Amino acid sequence: MALPNLETIILFAALGLIVGSFVNVLIHRLPIMILQSEEKPTAVFNLWTPRSHCPHCHHVLHWYELIPVVSYVISKGRCRHCTQSISPRYPIVEVITAALFLMCLRQFGPTPQALMACFFCATLLALACIDAETFLLPDILTQALLWVGLIGSALSLTPTPLIQSLGGAVLGYGLLWLVSWGFEKLAGKEGMGQGDLKLLAGLGAWVGVWSLLPLILLASVSGLIFGLVQKFRGQLGHNGHFPFGPFLALSGFACFFLGISMGA
Ligand SMILES: [Zn+2]
Repeated sequence: MALPNLETIILFAALGLIVGSFVNVLIHRLPIMILQSEEKPTAVFNLWTPRSHCPHCHHVLHWYELIPVVSYVISKGRCRHCTQSISPRYPIVEVITAALFLMCLRQFGPTPQALMACFFCATLLALACIDAETFLLPDILTQALLWVGLIGSALSLTPTPLIQSLGGAVLGYGLLWLVSWGFEKLAGKEGMGQGDLKLLAGLGAWVGVWSLLPLILLASVSGLIFGLVQKFRGQLGHNGHFPFGPFLALSGFACFFLGISMGA
């Protein structure tokens, strides 16, 4: 594979920053949209309405205040109007997205496959952040992951053949359902949420059936270590629960990019 030229590298980095900015919108707005549709179904709040504004003084941001990373650095991380500080999560998510897009370019070259991998990364990043902050895994993202993964593999736009992708989706949902059903029977409480099952089905469509067991193992072990560390530090809130989505997402990244699989 030929090395991508400088223009392509800059293009992917810029695309990553712009998509990262949209990932921030998803992280901030999707959970509010979900909760609001339950509490106040008539209120107008979606990904585009109201326009981006400062959460403290509600000043609507101009286009030049919305340039990924650059605006944050120039305003030194503060609102230009009320000077309250803005969460560093915004530029961090943008930089991580750009780094992930460059990783996709490095792995797949300047191809449609690379763009598909970019979609995979951005969706997983949004899901991991939303779950970490709110314990929610919005259906719209897990379903998008599943269907784009299946269609992509049918069109040979992902490295996973369709039959493995289908198997991964079905087994992903079924296997984790079985584990969570068993856990519920043994422990008498819910171990995993429906969102985790849907996320694993989506991941299965991308990594394929042969990578699913390593993926679940990686996620469980890393989740267990995290849970134990938090327990010893006395920081395990929510009745001892912690979000499992970020561990599934991280393991999904690892299996997709490193090709971790049981062979075949
Ligand atoms: Zn402000």
